[in-house]
Amino acid sequence: MSFRSVQGMFDILPVQTKGEYPAAIREWQRLERAFRSSAELYGYTEIRTPLIEHTKLFVRSIGDTTDVVEKEMYSFERHRDQLCLRPEGTASAARAYVQHSVQAQEPVSRWYYLGPMFRAERAQRGRYRQFYQAGCEIFGDPGPACDAELIEMLVSLFEGLGISDVTVHLNSLGSAGTRERYRDALLAYLTPHKDSLSEDSQRRLEKNPLRVLDSKAPEDQALVADAPKLLDVLSDDDREHFETLQRYLDAYGVRYELDPTLVRGLDYYTRTLFELKSNSGDLGAQNTLCGGGRYDNMIKSLGGADVPAIGFAMGLERILLALGEQATEKTDSVFIAPLGKDAVSEALVLGRELRQAGIPTEVDGRGNSMKSMLRRANHLGSRLVLILGDNEIERGVVQLKDFQSSDGPDSGSGGKAQSDVPRSDIVAQVSLLLSNGGSMSSAGAAT
Ligand code: ATP
Ligand code: MG
Repeated sequence: MSFRSVQGMFDILPVQTKGEYPAAIREWQRLERAFRSSAELYGYTEIRTPLIEHTKLFVRSIGDTTDVVEKEMYSFERHRDQLCLRPEGTASAARAYVQHSVQAQEPVSRWYYLGPMFRAERAQRGRYRQFYQAGCEIFGDPGPACDAELIEMLVSLFEGLGISDVTVHLNSLGSAGTRERYRDALLAYLTPHKDSLSEDSQRRLEKNPLRVLDSKAPEDQALVADAPKLLDVLSDDDREHFETLQRYLDAYGVRYELDPTLVRGLDYYTRTLFELKSNSGDLGAQNTLCGGGRYDNMIKSLGGADVPAIGFAMGLERILLALGEQATEKTDSVFIAPLGKDAVSEALVLGRELRQAGIPTEVDGRGNSMKSMLRRANHLGSRLVLILGDNEIERGVVQLKDFQSSDGPDSGSGGKAQSDVPRSDIVAQVSLLLSNGGSMSSAGAAT
């Protein structure tokens, strides 16, 4: 008998696991830190909501003819409640916003979240059953300035991460009246072709013809190419909103492509709609890093006030795949390699001193060879290695190797520098090296 994780759901470990899931924890943590710090820079504050919600929340907000609600929900009954694992974060954020009457406390709220979502999808590269999303929501601002700001934040974030080929795809769905008119136009166009549509699209035609635009079936996509365009039927207000947004993006120098067939997988959108795509790294066919848009009617439809809103969600796995294999950076940590029995007790004590100074330290007390200890230090990614042998102990010094030094004797960039440091100075020297990211010579090491 063997136990395995559920199909489409993966472990994230300190080591790289086999398969297509980007799994080494350090990459995740770096991405999460980058997301959090950029969200906070733009004035968003974190929210945390339960992983389980009432199923009807998603039926109401996402829409009952969407893929997510029709076939991807993990639903179950408990204590007579119909519940499900959340498939996305926006509905929960909106529910919390209404439930706690947040609009009565502040006119505009900027929230972000980060966590696992669950969808029973056909698992493949970039598409999983438990996956992680990070997202932002703005409640109470009708835009379009904040729409532009939201998109610019994403572009800057991806640039900062080093994904250089991101393209912004932009559309406007108009507000409710526009969508109503467009629905009629689309229905008139699609109905004569009904028999050539996919089965799903035929079924959705009456109930929600806009869904056909989002279909991934090739037979539908061929028809959609010639369908009437939303942008042609926008009301004056919608058009003004959309054109102003484009002006603001131009002012930022953010490039975008107008994409009139962009509809997206959830029903709640109004006006501004966007996706950011990339073909970097190992991304493959699932190349949408992130998607979002305005959902001005959702708060009201969940029983709240008439509060406009906009947001996005990005798939963290896809971003990690786009980043691809990156050179593992050295961490600001110390590895102590003692040679000989006496040295181990010295090393344990030195390790405690370093940790008391707040420096992450690993002591290798296994009694192995220097070669094997250095291999372990390299695997751990420790920047500094302290060598303590009988010789060093006798001379009252510690041998210090800096694997990130750029100006050591035997180093090019990324090379290592080496020196003997008096035992009494070692904690101070190590602190200095790690705190200012400095090199050994600027820390004044004795050579
Ligand atoms: P798609 O068209 O790719 O199915 P979607 O319209 O379902 O996407 P959203 O629900 O808006 O997408 O989710 C936002 C982002 O979350 C996507 O752009 C993608 O990066 C990520 N995402 C969505 N579903 C998955 C999944 N099953 N596995 C991994 N990432 C996902
Ligand atoms: Mg989907």
